[in-house]
Amino acid sequence: MQVFCSPLRYVQGVSASNQLAQQMDAVGMKPPVLMVASKSARVQAEKAWQESMKLKGWEFSIIDFSGECTPGEIDSVVAKARFLRVGSLVGAGGGKVLDTARAAANICDVPVALAPSIASTDAPTSALSVVYDEHGEVLEYRIFKRNPHLVLVDISLVAQAPVRFLAAGIGDALSTYFESDACRLSRKPNMRGGLSTQAAFALARFCFDSILADGADACVAVANKIISPALERVVEANTLLSGLGFESSGLAAAHAIHNGLTMIPSTHDFLHGEKVAFGVLTQLALEGKPRAFFQDIVRFLRSVNLPTRLKDLGIDVKDSNSIRTIAKRAVQEGETIHNEPFPVTESMVADALIAADALSAQV
Ligand SMILES: [Zn+2]
Repeated sequence: MQVFCSPLRYVQGVSASNQLAQQMDAVGMKPPVLMVASKSARVQAEKAWQESMKLKGWEFSIIDFSGECTPGEIDSVVAKARFLRVGSLVGAGGGKVLDTARAAANICDVPVALAPSIASTDAPTSALSVVYDEHGEVLEYRIFKRNPHLVLVDISLVAQAPVRFLAAGIGDALSTYFESDACRLSRKPNMRGGLSTQAAFALARFCFDSILADGADACVAVANKIISPALERVVEANTLLSGLGFESSGLAAAHAIHNGLTMIPSTHDFLHGEKVAFGVLTQLALEGKPRAFFQDIVRFLRSVNLPTRLKDLGIDVKDSNSIRTIAKRAVQEGETIHNEPFPVTESMVADALIAADALSAQV
């Protein structure tokens, strides 16, 4: 059986924050509304949200996000939402805020709108939250019944954010096609327990073509805090194309290696997509992709300032304990690395980590 899923509505545009309540209303969401927001998103967009809610006459409260999507943080949002008897939840900010709002909304059984202020991951469109422990290590993936009712991307906020966030989103989006392809070849189920569709695979492939064509230009736009057609296309690729592609096609080695990398404390200073970028190189080495192709991907990663060496993530390639720790976590039972079209062992991953590093050094 093939399964494809998506949010009810995706909205992207200049000053889209002004439209929050109107777009929520358009998909049948109801007040009172509780928003979990990062401090920086709040500073940039609170006025626009408040005015949009006022125009609709909707009751609206905001709580500040603590900084990590932990079980405790999710439960505290649930408690507040139940106390206010909310009709809808909203998450506004980076990936972890959105994951917290989505998890809380699913526990409360109310619809959620997600308003990313950066394009640093493909999480917004999905029905999945990554939950971390207090030390920043991945605890679990929680997969919910419903995708968000609404994903609203204010491109004006994305253009004002540090360019590093957009680049990380490009790293996350880069993995989508390779992981989709692995799942397609192995006929392993996607995140919704079904096989991939032509639609999902086409979106994943188009995501790859789009970021390769426009990724570097989009980073130039954000470095200059301007909006350009390349930026609009990459924000859509990072958020919508990659999100639909990964969820409805499936994950494989790159994200499992990301999870392995989170076991090393030095990587906690790096963003999800920065670690996924090295996960992609490791997946390519593991799959034995041709040298010229591997090198093209390394050059592309460098053009957008993403890591291509283990030392770029604070890891010493000669530290065999670290390599073993990463590899062991990456092949843990239930990990998406087992969606690759061949059996993967700990020692294969350890070798692929070292190979990816060494092959990158030659570019
Ligand atoms: Zn990801």
